[in-house]
Amino acid sequence: MTLYLKDASFLDWQSLEIKQTDLAVEEGSQGVMSFLTAVPTKDELNSQDRILNCSGKLVTKSFGCGHHHIYSTLARGMPAPPRIPTNFIEVLEYVWWRVDKRLDRDMIEASALAAAMHMAKHGVTFCVDHHSSPYAIEGSLETIARAFEKIGLGHLLCYEISCRDGQGCMEAGLAETDAYLSSGRKGHVGLHASFTVDDDLLENSVELARKHGTGLHVHVAEAPADQEHCLKTYGKRVVQRFHEFGALESPHTILGHCVFLDDNEKKLLRESPVWVVQNVESNQNNNVGATGYTGLTGNVMLGTDGMHSDMLRSAKAAYLVGQNTEGVSPDQMYERFRNVHRFIKTMGAEGDGDNNLVILDYNTPTEITSENFTGHFIYGLESNHVLSVIAQGKVIVEDRRITSVDEAEILAYAREQGLRLWKKLEDNISPQSSLRTLRRS
Ligand SMILES: [Zn+2]
Repeated sequence: MTLYLKDASFLDWQSLEIKQTDLAVEEGSQGVMSFLTAVPTKDELNSQDRILNCSGKLVTKSFGCGHHHIYSTLARGMPAPPRIPTNFIEVLEYVWWRVDKRLDRDMIEASALAAAMHMAKHGVTFCVDHHSSPYAIEGSLETIARAFEKIGLGHLLCYEISCRDGQGCMEAGLAETDAYLSSGRKGHVGLHASFTVDDDLLENSVELARKHGTGLHVHVAEAPADQEHCLKTYGKRVVQRFHEFGALESPHTILGHCVFLDDNEKKLLRESPVWVVQNVESNQNNNVGATGYTGLTGNVMLGTDGMHSDMLRSAKAAYLVGQNTEGVSPDQMYERFRNVHRFIKTMGAEGDGDNNLVILDYNTPTEITSENFTGHFIYGLESNHVLSVIAQGKVIVEDRRITSVDEAEILAYAREQGLRLWKKLEDNISPQSSLRTLRRS
């Protein structure tokens, strides 16, 4: 099947060159996009072919998210925690570790479907996710993968393994990761963070990543507590510890946050091929602080950390916070916003080729050119300009409506699962070893 985009203002996401053109977009994970001088006439079209009129619309590559937690989708509007968290560790204990322990297969599926739908409607067609459901680990990654594919999204998934819920959950996390990656799926060996991962688990995870030719996906120095625990327990800082275990050797490794690093850790990152993901809104929400990323490494991309599914919003937030921390420019922020595609390419993952496009209904009161585009990107473009979205050559959003599934049906299913989750929050589940792990600090 070929999709023809007629009369588009096409913006090349790398050169920022804008040209008036018709486009032919082939379907499939390997599908390509090509420029045409004219779309075929009706008689020349095959029965499956379609023409979309893009007159007056800006067409460019769709977006990607470098760090998400779809498992947090059903938390929106949930009952308040038993106590108000006063620091980062309490946010985990009172909020996220209460939610993730109560997730079951249906809730995970509903979370993934709803999050994928939101991503699609915001122009995001590829997601790097970090999943946690300690009492529903087995098969969780395949459930998410299928949900993403039902909506039409490409993905790199991982399960967040840690020691916080005891030996059984830790082993189940390793087994789930091994099974998922052995099945031919691409993804990561996910770890929660240094303060919930002991030396044995860190060593086994690096080994598992090597076995599958992939990297780790782990939170690093999101709050000072991570560094304090590492110094007290291991006598060294987090990045140094990871470096000594070989955790920084892969260009596929993703370190989330990296807010609290010293000069030596920054040097280790600069000398390694790993990627760093910036999630400023989540950092603000947890009141952990902010940092600049200029000069840390060229490999910085943007994520939402489960806060939402709108990457244009993440880029704006990172730009605004970055004025105070590093004086970042619109050009630099655009590069970080687009770096996710470079990362996906290094992973050799399918589903982020040139046949992933967003059609923007962007009526600007000022001229838009190659030279000033990043100014429009920061100050003008918003996800409500996303009119239609093409993922792997298929139209998955058309005129702001999801076409791949029945949106109302999925939202109803998610609400039903959300209510089940909220009801389960009243159940008393022992935090098990999570408190013991932390109390050691
Ligand atoms: Zn995260």
